[in-house]
Amino acid sequence: MRMVFTHSNRFIVANAKNILESYDVKVVVKNEYASSAIGEVSPFDTWLELWVVRDLDYDRACRILESAISDENAAPWVCRGCREENDESFDLCWNCGAGRV
Ligand SMILES: [Zn+2]
Repeated sequence: MRMVFTHSNRFIVANAKNILESYDVKVVVKNEYASSAIGEVSPFDTWLELWVVRDLDYDRACRILESAISDENAAPWVCRGCREENDESFDLCWNCGAGRV
């Protein structure tokens, strides 16, 4: 297994997981329950990590995430529910989970 992505925001990690799974890449999330132990560990340790199960998928997973999450040419959108700005690649608001319209 290899770690392909990590972020402090669990919704962003969940989105990345959904993207990879839609490409048939098997992934697992680690540190999922670490946030309950916050204060005991450094903030970085509570970041959720996305790991590809098959090492063979690693390079492909990196490319998928790069193109999906790269925001250089993508226009962000603003959530109608909470007014948070969301990356173009996300179909659900990272903050409140509302759908993109
Ligand atoms: Zn929202």
